[in-house]
Amino acid sequence: MSECLFCKIVEGKVPSRKVLEDDEVFAFEDIAPRAPTHVLVVPKKHFDKIADAAEPGIVGRVLLGAARVARERGLEHYRLVVNNGEEAGQSVFHFHVHLLGGRPMSWPPG
Ligand code: AMP
Repeated sequence: MSECLFCKIVEGKVPSRKVLEDDEVFAFEDIAPRAPTHVLVVPKKHFDKIADAAEPGIVGRVLLGAARVARERGLEHYRLVVNNGEEAGQSVFHFHVHLLGGRPMSWPPG
């Protein structure tokens, strides 16, 4: 069995607050939200990080999944974040996009 937390969430073996699911993509509420909307969008098929993505299709599906969640929540202003590697802030090594919205956000990030 996979030891990956997000694989377990996709498989329903670890509980999550599901937001969206299709044949390739799964989205759920972040457990420690950094904004009024903080949703994680992941591919069902595991790869560790964006640097390991083998083909563009799934990356596009994940990004469009995030945009769809934003649209369904009526968000016009939001941020999509991908952390690649520990020093960039990645803590779960199953590729994911953070959808953050519902409050003003500064730029550039720290
Ligand atoms: P990152 O640091 O970019 O790898 O993002 C990982 C995210 O996963 C963090 O924002 C965590 O709050 C979130 N997270 C960790 N465990 C869970 C969980 N069981 N359910 C939902 N989100 C989680």
